[in-house]
Amino acid sequence: MTHDMEKTKCLIIGSGPAGYTAAIYASRANLAPILYEGLTPGGQLTTTTDIENFPGYPDGISGSEMMEDLRKQAARFGADIRTGEILSVDTDARPMVAKTDDGTDIAADTIIIATGASAKYLGLADETKYAGMGVSACATCDGFFYRKKVVAVVGGGDTACEEAVYLSHLAQKVYMLVRKDYLRASNIMKERVMSSPNITVLFETQAEGLYGENGVEGVHLVKKRGTQQEEHYDLPIDGFFLAIGHKPNTDFLGGKVELDEQGYIKTAPYTSETNLPGVFAAGDVADPRYRQAITAAASGCRAAIDAERYLLSKA
Ligand code: NDP
Repeated sequence: MTHDMEKTKCLIIGSGPAGYTAAIYASRANLAPILYEGLTPGGQLTTTTDIENFPGYPDGISGSEMMEDLRKQAARFGADIRTGEILSVDTDARPMVAKTDDGTDIAADTIIIATGASAKYLGLADETKYAGMGVSACATCDGFFYRKKVVAVVGGGDTACEEAVYLSHLAQKVYMLVRKDYLRASNIMKERVMSSPNITVLFETQAEGLYGENGVEGVHLVKKRGTQQEEHYDLPIDGFFLAIGHKPNTDFLGGKVELDEQGYIKTAPYTSETNLPGVFAAGDVADPRYRQAITAAASGCRAAIDAERYLLSKA
C-alpha cells in the first residue's frame, strides 16, 4: 500500500484537556498543528459527570461540553483536528514519521503525546464475555442502568470509593470487592463509603469470574485466597464495575519513549521533555500524581511552549 505523506511542525496525539490545550497554544504560535483525536474524542472527561473543580465554572460544566469548547477554541486558531488514530511513530527518523489509521503518513518536526490513560481490567475472560452486558469501567457512564439493582465495584482506591458512593445513590445495594484488608483511599473517601448505609465492603475478596444467562447475574468470589481460611462463594449482582486504576496509553510508541516503573512517560523535571528530542508529553500519560483536568490542560500548554522553543532552537 502506498502512503500519502503530509508534513507538520507539530503533531499532537490525543484529545483530552492536554491535547486540546496544546493545540490552542501551538496554533497561536503559528505551528499549524495537526491533532489526532484517537478513539475517544474528548478523552476520559467525556465519560464523567459534571466537572466542578475546574476554575472559571462556578456552576460546574459537563465533561463533554468542556471538551467541545476546548476543541472549538483550538479549531478557531487553525488547529487541524482529525478523527482517527496514530498507530505507530518512527522517532528515529528526522522529521519523525507517524502512521495513521487512514493510511496517511505524517512527517512531524515535533510530537506532543497526550494520549491519556485507559481503565484497567482484571483480565478475566468473563469481563470480555459480558462487556456491555453488566461489566463497566465507568460508573458515571453506566450507573443509570442499575437503578434499584445490586452492583459490585472492584478496587479500594479513591476511584473505587468515588464510584461506589456515586452508585449508592442509584442502586439498591453496592458491594466493594477489596483484595486487601483495608481501603487505600483517602480518609474523606473512606468515610463517605463507611457512612453510606447501602455500601458493604468485602475485604480480602477477589472476583474469579462472572455468571448469568443473558448478562451478569452474579460473581464468583474467593475470600482470603491462598490462606487456610480460603473460601469460595457466589454473590448475586446485576452490574460489575472495575475501578482498579488506569494504564497510560503508550503502546503505539514501540518502547522508544522512556517510561517509569508504572508505565507513565518520564519527563525532565519542570518540563514536558521526554528522553527523545522533539517529543513532548502532556496530561495523564505522563502524570502518575495529579491526573486532574486542570493539571492536564496546564501541561498541554507547557508542551506546546516546549515544542515551539525546541523548533526555534533548531531554526
Ligand atoms: P489506585 O491505584 O489508587 O487504586 C487502585 C485500587 O485497585 C487499589 O485498591 C488496588 O488494590 C486495587 N487493585 C488493583 N489491581 C487489582 C486487581 N488486579 N485486583 C483487585 N484489586 C486491584 O487507583 P485509583 O484509580 O483509585 O486512583 C488513582 C489516583 O487518582 C490516586 O492517586 C487517587 O488518589 C486519585 N484520585 C483521587 C480522587 C479524589 O480525590 N476524589 C478520585 C479518583 C482518583 P491494592 O490496594 O491492594 O493495591
